[in-house]
Parts: sequence; C-alpha cells; structure tokens
Amino acid sequence: MSHRPRKALIIGAGIAGPVAAILLRRAGIESAIYEAWPYSKGIGGGLQIAPNGMHVMDEIGLAGELISRGSIAESFDFYSQEGRRLGSINRDMARRFGQPAVNVCRGTLNEMLVDKAWCACVSLYFDKRLIKIEDRGDQPIIAYFADGTTAEGDFLIGADGVHSVTRRQVVPDGPKPFNTGLIGFGGFVPHAVLNGRATGWNVETTFGQSGFFGYGYCSPDPKDGAMWWSTQPAHGMDAAMFRALDQQTLKQHLRGFHHGWHDPIPAIIEAAENIVVTDTLDVATLPTWSRKRSLLIGDAAHATSPHAGQGASLALEDAMRLARLMQVRQELGATFQAFEAERRPRAEKIVALARRNGNNKRELSAAGAFIRNQMIKWLLPLGAKSMDFMYAYDARAA
Ligand SMILES: Cc1cc2nc3c(=O)[nH]c(=O)nc-3n(C[C@H](O)[C@H](O)[C@H](O)COP(=O)(O)OP(=O)(O)OC[C@H]3O[C@@H](n4cnc5c(N)ncnc54)[C@H](O)[C@@H]3O)c2cc1C
Repeated sequence: MSHRPRKALIIGAGIAGPVAAILLRRAGIESAIYEAWPYSKGIGGGLQIAPNGMHVMDEIGLAGELISRGSIAESFDFYSQEGRRLGSINRDMARRFGQPAVNVCRGTLNEMLVDKAWCACVSLYFDKRLIKIEDRGDQPIIAYFADGTTAEGDFLIGADGVHSVTRRQVVPDGPKPFNTGLIGFGGFVPHAVLNGRATGWNVETTFGQSGFFGYGYCSPDPKDGAMWWSTQPAHGMDAAMFRALDQQTLKQHLRGFHHGWHDPIPAIIEAAENIVVTDTLDVATLPTWSRKRSLLIGDAAHATSPHAGQGASLALEDAMRLARLMQVRQELGATFQAFEAERRPRAEKIVALARRNGNNKRELSAAGAFIRNQMIKWLLPLGAKSMDFMYAYDARAA
C-alpha cells in the first residue's frame, strides 16, 4: 500500500521557514511556504550567523556560499566611548567550533535560503498573510489568508517571527511582544569608511554611557559591504516615530547621540544612507509551543532580542532538529512534545542571556559606565568562556 507523503504548511519565509522546508523534504515531507510580504531581495540590515547556525547552513549546502557572499568575523572587540580597548571575544571560532562566525546582509541570506528552497521543489507563495488556522480533528488543517484564499495540509509550522499570528492561535491569551525600551538603527557603508582605525574583519563594538555602536564587514562588495548598528534607549519614542522622520533628520539625531564617540563612528554616521530603524522586542516565555497540529519554531516560539547575536542561529537549529525528529515518524503530538522538551531549555537560556546583555546598553551615570567598563575588562575572559555553550552546539550531532 502506498502512503501519500505528509504535507506541512509553513508560515513565514524568513530564516526558520525555508530551512525547515528544505530539511523536511529529506524526511519525506512535502512543504508549502506562505509569506506575508511580496518577494523582495532588499530586506534590511546585517546580522551574524554564529558557528552553531553555520553547522545548519553547512547541512543544507550553503556554508561555503554564505562565507563567500558574507564576511568571516575574526573576533568581537569591545571599546569604551572614548576608544579605550576593553577586550575581545570570539577569536578563532572556526578552529574551536568547526565553523566561523559569518556576517552577512539579511537580504543576501534570505535570497540564498529562498533559492535553495525553490531548488528543493518547495512550493513558495508570497503575499499570503496568515490570519487564522482551523484545526478540526480528522479534517486537514486549514490556513486562512488575508486575500481570502486558504491552504490545507497535515500539520502547520509557525515560522512567522516575533509578531507571529500562529502564536496567537497556539496560545490565544498568551504573551505579546513588548518593547524593551531600546531602539536599533542600522545600515551599510563602504569598506573604505572603516579603513584607518578599524580593519572591518573584527566586529568592533562600543559601549557608551548611554547606548551602543557596532560595525564590521558583511560582504566583499567594497561599495556597501560594511554593516553598522546603533542601539539606544528609546526615551519615549518607538521605531515608527523615528521612521516617520526623513533620512537627514535621522542622521542628525545619530550625530547628536554619538557626539564625541571614537573614530570611525562619526565617519560611519556621515556616510550612512537608507538608515533602517527597528524596535527591540522581546516576548515572555510561552506556556507551550504547540497546539493540536500547529507548532511554533524560531522567533515565533522564543523571540530573542538581538543582544546575543543568536536569534537566527537558534531558528536554523530549530529547523534542523524538527526535521530530524520528524524523520523518526512517531505520532505528531509526541514529535512536537519531544521538540519542545529538547529545544526549550537551550532557547530560554540564550534568550535570558540576550536580555542581560541588553541591560548593558541602557543609560548609566558616568560612574556607572566606568564601573561597567571595568567589569567588562576584568570579567570578559570568564564571560567569553560561559558563552561557548552557544557556539559549540551542533544540531546535526545533537
Ligand atoms: C536589528 C536586529 C539585529 C539582529 N541581529 C542578529 C544577529 O546578528 N544574529 C542573529 O542570530 N540574530 C539576529 N537577530 C535576530 C534574528 O533576526 C531573528 O531571531 C531571526 O530572524 C528569527 O528567524 P525566524 O525565521 O524565526 O523569523 P523571521 O526571520 O522574522 O521570519 C519570519 C517571517 O514570517 C513572515 N510572517 C510574519 N507574519 C506572517 C503572517 N501572518 N503570514 C505569513 N508570513 C508572516 C515575516 O514576513 C518573515 O518573513 C537580529 C534581530 C534584529 C531585529
């Protein structure tokens, strides 16, 4: 007797969604991905894929391409606002963890994942915004979209990020994303802007008395291959309010906020174009990650503020571990339970670490900033060791 392959409805073509679809195919499961936005190659900002995420990129055959289209980060260096070196972490990642940490434009990563999913014969539908899920026992599960269409499958994976609609269906009265009181600004500048004091191969980051600034290469393209970002206390503003301002006013704001900060920060701000502004969001722990035949993965399950540089890598790990568990072909509910039991402790430990890191970017008194900087200087070696658990994890071997 021949069995029809099971079909997954995957909501979201960010990071977790396409990778889950690619890997589920290897487990004999067909997937269709539904993404709220039209197909676009230009989605904003830069990010870092850590060695643990790179193992998953390697598994889907994209580690080499990511390295050639991104930029290996040789270390993560910390400075004070005046330019005093506080220390360095994340050196020699490739030797220690089997893969390097790689900076990349989010748009490039997304384009690579979507192309790979297409090549793996995954069906992708854009401009399909999930609004509701219907899950009635022995009927197929149904996803309803804002354009009035529907899709049917055997189960549904919510990879729809921090604002997940699937989460609202899985945990109807559950926690909602909240603003952490920090706002992110970011963009790209030419490599030449970093030349001089910074090499670009190290990610250089600066703790101010209030706020934080970082930069490093993220692509081999000299024209706009360096990424930068600024994290600041919101002071009653949110990202939408800043987005309503024109680019010159945004730049003026950044000049004022980072006035007197060390080189090359002023030059980066002068060269900045197309500045992107984001809220820094967090979501409290969910009571469950699944309900009947729907499961949350990535930021939908455990939204991670960006301060540990791990949200994307956790999303990649989730996709890999889910596919491996699905391969065992036990009953769906048991697979979802096993997934949550395995992934929750690791995800929550990293989410908590990101929250603690975020607290170091809030406004301090001059004395408070001095003490924080001394602490970073003296405790960094210890702190660096305590982060090894994040990078040493290999989802292929778990
Ligand atoms: C400023 C910033 C910097 C960051 N830097 C890093 C970093 O350096 N390293 C790192 O590891 N992580 C970083 N992160 C976190 C990282 O981006 C996320 O953790 C990661 O993108 C999560 O992947 P995901 O696939 O779960 O969700 P997403 O990448 O957010 O993808 C979700 C997708 O679902 C779609 N979607 C949403 N709602 C619907 C709907 N109703 N119907 C259909 N589709 C929908 C969205 O449009 C999106 O395409 C950063 C985050 C921010 C905000």
